Amino acid sequence: MSLQENYYNVQARILAACERAGRDPESVTLIAVSKTKPVGMIEELAGFGQCEFGENHVQEIVEKTAAFPDVRYHMIGHLQRNKVKQVVGRVVLIHSVDSLRLAEEISKESQKRGIVTDILVEVNVGNEESKYGFSFEETERAVSEIRKLSGVSVRGLMCVAPYVAVPEENRPLFHKMKQLLVDISSKYMDNSTVNILSMGMTNDFETAIEEGATHVRIGTALFGAREYNVGR
Ligand SMILES: *Cc1c(COP(=O)(O)O)cnc(C)c1O
Repeated sequence: MSLQENYYNVQARILAACERAGRDPESVTLIAVSKTKPVGMIEELAGFGQCEFGENHVQEIVEKTAAFPDVRYHMIGHLQRNKVKQVVGRVVLIHSVDSLRLAEEISKESQKRGIVTDILVEVNVGNEESKYGFSFEETERAVSEIRKLSGVSVRGLMCVAPYVAVPEENRPLFHKMKQLLVDISSKYMDNSTVNILSMGMTNDFETAIEEGATHVRIGTALFGAREYNVGR
């Protein structure tokens, strides 16, 4: 399958999931996860109309935003505090804020530049040791702490759900995420800005959409399998 065929296929699957859930397709944003893939593939996909791209390594964000600045980049991977400087100002949204100290660093760097950085708070939805993020129980508290910081705007929640054989297995977790977002945003006067739910990947994005995802992050279904033999 060509990249174009994959793209149309993924778009059709997103549309069908929206239809099943009675949702407006405009309420779901496809983020093409281009990590490890060459910038030429980003350009090719952009040529078909794709605007949003996800990356998880700072070095790749620096290189790709320089080589092809014409699209919007999202930071979706674990971010070390000492690399915050390289990411702030280069991406439209940092999905993976998994500690208060990271949020403080983003706040500091954003204020230095006189900008406000949009962020999501990451939830370790499956309580997996190998994954980053706040537990369900900690998340509401974390959001309220992070909201006190200048230079950052908490726009919603993100999770990397467990890898499961059948996507249906993640439905209860996606449902809980939606519930948590509603609970949190209803607490704030400006709740209309806390409305992003970034969840769902190649393996389970349709289920995530049915449960309320506003941003799905899809790599493999678009670009094919990744090769990790280049030092990552
Ligand atoms: C790699 C990655 C994705 C995309 O995964 P696929 O299964 O290839 O669609 C989504 N989110 C995050 C955080 C990732 O690191």
